[in-house]
Amino acid sequence: MDNLIGLVNRIQRACTALGDHGGEGAVQSLWEALPSVAVVGGQSSGKSSVLESIVGRDFLPRGSGIVTRRPLVLQLHKTDEGTPEYAEFLHMPKKRFSDFAAVRKEISDETDRITGRGKGISVVPIQLSVYSPNVVNLTLIDLPGLTKIAVDGQSDSIVQDIENMVRSYIEKQNSIILAVSPANQDIATSDAMKIAREVDPTGERTFGVLTKLDLMDKGTNALDVLEGRSYRLKHPWVGVVNRSQQDINKEVNMIAARRRERDYFQTSQDYGHLASKMGSEYLGKVLSKHLEAVIRSRIPSILAMINKSIDEIEAELNQIGRPLANDAGAQLYTILELCRAFDRIFKEHLDGARPGGEKIYAVFDNQLPAALKKLPFDKHLSGQNVRRIVSEADGYQPHLIAPEQGYRRLIESSLQFFRGPAEAVVDAVHFILRDLVRKSIGECSELKRFPSLQAEIAQAAIESLERLRDDSKKTTLRLVDMESSYLTVDFFRKLPQEIEKGGNAAAAANDRYTDNHLRRIGSNVASYVGMVCDQLRTSLPKAAVHCQVREAKRSLMDHFYTQIGKREGKQLSAMLDEDPALMERRVQLSKRLQLYKSARDEIDAVAWK
Ligand code: GDP
Ligand code: MG
Repeated sequence: MDNLIGLVNRIQRACTALGDHGGEGAVQSLWEALPSVAVVGGQSSGKSSVLESIVGRDFLPRGSGIVTRRPLVLQLHKTDEGTPEYAEFLHMPKKRFSDFAAVRKEISDETDRITGRGKGISVVPIQLSVYSPNVVNLTLIDLPGLTKIAVDGQSDSIVQDIENMVRSYIEKQNSIILAVSPANQDIATSDAMKIAREVDPTGERTFGVLTKLDLMDKGTNALDVLEGRSYRLKHPWVGVVNRSQQDINKEVNMIAARRRERDYFQTSQDYGHLASKMGSEYLGKVLSKHLEAVIRSRIPSILAMINKSIDEIEAELNQIGRPLANDAGAQLYTILELCRAFDRIFKEHLDGARPGGEKIYAVFDNQLPAALKKLPFDKHLSGQNVRRIVSEADGYQPHLIAPEQGYRRLIESSLQFFRGPAEAVVDAVHFILRDLVRKSIGECSELKRFPSLQAEIAQAAIESLERLRDDSKKTTLRLVDMESSYLTVDFFRKLPQEIEKGGNAAAAANDRYTDNHLRRIGSNVASYVGMVCDQLRTSLPKAAVHCQVREAKRSLMDHFYTQIGKREGKQLSAMLDEDPALMERRVQLSKRLQLYKSARDEIDAVAWK
């Protein structure tokens, strides 16, 4: 009968051990599947005593006055027959208690630690697990008793505080309410029934327990209550006889107490006919049967949640990657695959399947023309400068017709200005490509788990881009140099000759260094330079694409491939060094996956039995 409860309990514990505390998904549904049993009732109604006799061990502080001052969450774990019984507190996980008197003392001490020695209460629960072959699998919660007035040493709010605390435990839908009322008080005044009805009006999850049957006035009995005539409940009332304070003082043990309780019912004139449905042992069985039914009804949704969690874990495992093979061949293969995955993404960026490539076009279309436009030809070809350069080129002998040397010097010095934009285009393309490398590495999900390899690929790719940049610079600068090494003769032939225009050579000679003459030279040079500029505007982008973009697409990782081909096993596995956090995550996920899978199988098996 305990199978299902035990199973769910065990799975819960396994989840807890994995660090799952029931946030979402399967764990949450497991959590909700196993209800806890909370004991409510007035102070000294016998709540702690009832719990103790369900457990079958003396371990709770009991007595008159406010003894239970913090919630006690008690998990009972049924262990195999013949194994020793022990208890463990969550607040001291390493210590196993086999002496239950020591457990009681620790509960008392731990209560005082938080609440002080007075009569105050705290909502902070004490968590205790009991492992024993003699218990049923249950979570029981002992709560402070409800009171009506604050006594000396208690704050004025204590009545309300206790009620709020109790309510917070029993209003959860998966909580089963053990409503404890003493038989020697009128049931109509029962605090337990009052609050239980408030949070569970249909009585679905309320179990009525009548204590102190032995303390009733002679000549009276509780049959009206126990047989459901005074106060109807969905589940039948259970009467119990716990140990009196005197028994406790005399240290009457649990076994003797249980026997006496059994005898009491069997020999009772009033309750003899109900004997098989009375007593703490019976109460324990009723509760566990009820729990079993609750769990059974939730099995379909538990299984659905577990399946969903399994799918999610598998998806995540696929995403972060399965564990690696460790022979050199397989590792080399993995590295090459990863490089190719990166390279694919990089190309997609250039080809337009992913964004980024368009920035290169922006360089050609905006940056380069703007840079060309800004070149200081106006200043360089100003009358003053033309005069200086032309007369310097002429030397001691002024030119006769046209200043051939002066033209050459003016043109050559002008063309030097194009070197700047030529280099700038190459650099701009280089930086875009470098950014795309970084981006592609970030976007390569397969690479996520290998930070070392990421760094190596990035370095190799960037080194490769730098080689391409050098080559591209050489090419573009050469384009500029080529322009100055041979001037287009046609262009000058077509220029109107000053002689023909002026008609008078002597006049032209006299005119040699006039502003007019110099301005004409300047504007001739400017229009030649403008023609070259148009040419470079189209040829520089071609050079950059040819040397950098196309080459990066074709051979970005080639150098790296030949390098790693020469590496040894040890170096290869160093490259596949994983992020420790990720490795840890994989281990966690695999464990959880295994746990959920076996939980699913076990629940399946139990459910259809
Ligand atoms: P709690 O305050 O509700 O937890 O009540 P306790 O379990 O501490 O019990 C209060 C007192 O009532 C203790 O002295 C118990 O020994 C006594 N008591 C509880 N149940 C019974 C019972 O069924 N019969 C007798 N004679 N005494 C009981
Ligand atoms: Mg108590």
